[in-house]
Amino acid sequence: MKIREVFQGRCPVSFEVFPPKGELTLNTATDLIGQIATCDPAFVSVTYSAGGSGNSHLTAQIAHIAQERFGLNAIAHLTCMGATHNSIAAHIARMRELKVENVLALRGDPVPGSSTGDFTLARDLIPTLREAGFCVGAAAYPEGHIDCLNEFDNVHHLRQKQDAGAEFFITQLFFDNRFAYRFLDLAHAAGVTAPISFGVMPFLSKSQATRMVFMCGASLPAPLVKLLARYEHDPASLRQAGIEYACNQIDDLVRHGVDGVHVYTMNRPDIAQAAATVARGRA
Ligand code: FAD
Repeated sequence: MKIREVFQGRCPVSFEVFPPKGELTLNTATDLIGQIATCDPAFVSVTYSAGGSGNSHLTAQIAHIAQERFGLNAIAHLTCMGATHNSIAAHIARMRELKVENVLALRGDPVPGSSTGDFTLARDLIPTLREAGFCVGAAAYPEGHIDCLNEFDNVHHLRQKQDAGAEFFITQLFFDNRFAYRFLDLAHAAGVTAPISFGVMPFLSKSQATRMVFMCGASLPAPLVKLLARYEHDPASLRQAGIEYACNQIDDLVRHGVDGVHVYTMNRPDIAQAAATVARGRA
């Protein structure tokens, strides 16, 4: 199914997974998707490492497994930084072969030492994928992309991706829902009409939360900082508090009537399960 249709229902809840590391990636991924399927997600999305590193050659195959083996809707992520028209054409051929229907079109982050390719921004990739018949989504940033300091430029860039053919958006994680609601107002004012699914990631450790601050510019609100301090020496309680915090965020987003919630599961089915339970209780 084309993912744009999923947003016609009430607040779809979806999950992000990444290709597991190690030699048995496909076995591990099949097991993981099987567990996540029990949460009845609106769709799963499978990440792709910029430059095709790691197990990214398996991204489309994992999306295929989710679709064909478990009957789930799936999205394969694809980055274009450093890519050529030929390499993207090869990806398109492979995704078609695997019956992938939905792609999240991304620029990706610069890979040190990699050469410049034929694409500069995600918006350059989107038309190629649309022309190839895919339903195409793109990334959105409630607190602005790390390189974009102006909130109006942020939504203007989003609008450009919509004009290029993006049919839905999935956001970067954030820990304070007030950013999401302000962003939503600005995006609508900028003429963004495509559905926006809000990305939520539970913090599982202090180092992970801090990494998110520097990697994607997410703000740490005071209640979260207090939890990190309170459970600094109690990792199990901190993980539990992180999952509860994310569930409260989801609860609030669903009450607010957002178009969708996308959970960064970090390949942990228990996170998917907790999020699905909260969201279903509200939807
Ligand atoms: P773009 O939309 O191209 O934006 C890149 C930068 O250019 C931004 O600062 C933007 O504000 C700016 N910009 C855009 N348009 C213009 C313009 N017209 N003029 C000037 N500046 C402009 N990375 C991976 O490697 N693999 C993944 O699987 C992956 N999945 C992701 C999933 C989600 C939901 C999100 C939110 C991010 C994901 N990322 C992934 C990270 C993403 O690749 C990085 O954030 C990357 O730096 C930007 O990608 P983008 O597609 O948003 O880029």
